[in-house]
Amino acid sequence: MNFYVMTLFPEMIEQGMNTSITGRAIAKGLLSLETVNIRDYSVAGNGRIDDYPYGGGAGMVMQAEPIYRAYEEVKSRITVDTGHLRVIYLTPQGRVFHQEMAQELAQEENLVFLCGHYEGVDERVIETVVTDQVSIGDYVLTGGELPAMVMMDAISRMVPGVLSNAESGQSESFSDHLLEYPQYSRPEIWRGQPVPPVLLSGHHGNVERWRREQSLIRTLKSRPELLKDADLDSGDIAFLKSISSE
Ligand code: SAM
Repeated sequence: MNFYVMTLFPEMIEQGMNTSITGRAIAKGLLSLETVNIRDYSVAGNGRIDDYPYGGGAGMVMQAEPIYRAYEEVKSRITVDTGHLRVIYLTPQGRVFHQEMAQELAQEENLVFLCGHYEGVDERVIETVVTDQVSIGDYVLTGGELPAMVMMDAISRMVPGVLSNAESGQSESFSDHLLEYPQYSRPEIWRGQPVPPVLLSGHHGNVERWRREQSLIRTLKSRPELLKDADLDSGDIAFLKSISSE
């Protein structure tokens, strides 16, 4: 998986991504990350890449040409056929990012991210180079760098080998449209609060049942809308009915 990020703040992306699990995966060659500084493609040649919006109004707009040139630079670095290259513009106006989208994007070999700033980006370059517009939630941030890092982090976890324990990506929240069960570690009693006894029983079947029930309880309580897409068996449905009527 090769990530290319077109940004005004490459150091922000590099510092964030070269840390912790993604940093280890980059060092191991499981992921690669290249940033392209849009400012280096300033048309004026002085690093300026924004201008006033036509029609007036507050703020500045990132110009089309520096972004287009940065995109051409990215394309020149990709040796495989770039015919179906996914170019993602981070924008509050895009489709809201979720786990299934991360799974789908993790199948790509190359992903290009375009991080906006100020009032956003000249619409013409979006129409020319962007294939996907993605939002990370219904709020407005100052720039697309954090959203790009959010996406790359979630996608990276699905690249084989990035997580040290392959299991941990599977039972997690959203993997089956359910939230994950609660987790406990040592000590057995912490400040008077014991670990649920079933987890110490050594009975695998009981532990699995308890975890499943906890997932159902949590999802019903915090994110009930997820349940309609969850793969529920008759036992799950009966359990949900029993706790809903309590
Ligand atoms: N004027 C734009 C609008 O109302 O849609 C918002 C521009 S925002 C201040 C600047 C940049 O931050 C955007 O171009 C985008 O790249 C990024 N951004 C802000 N919020 C975002 C979100 N929720 N998801 C993804 N990107 C976001």
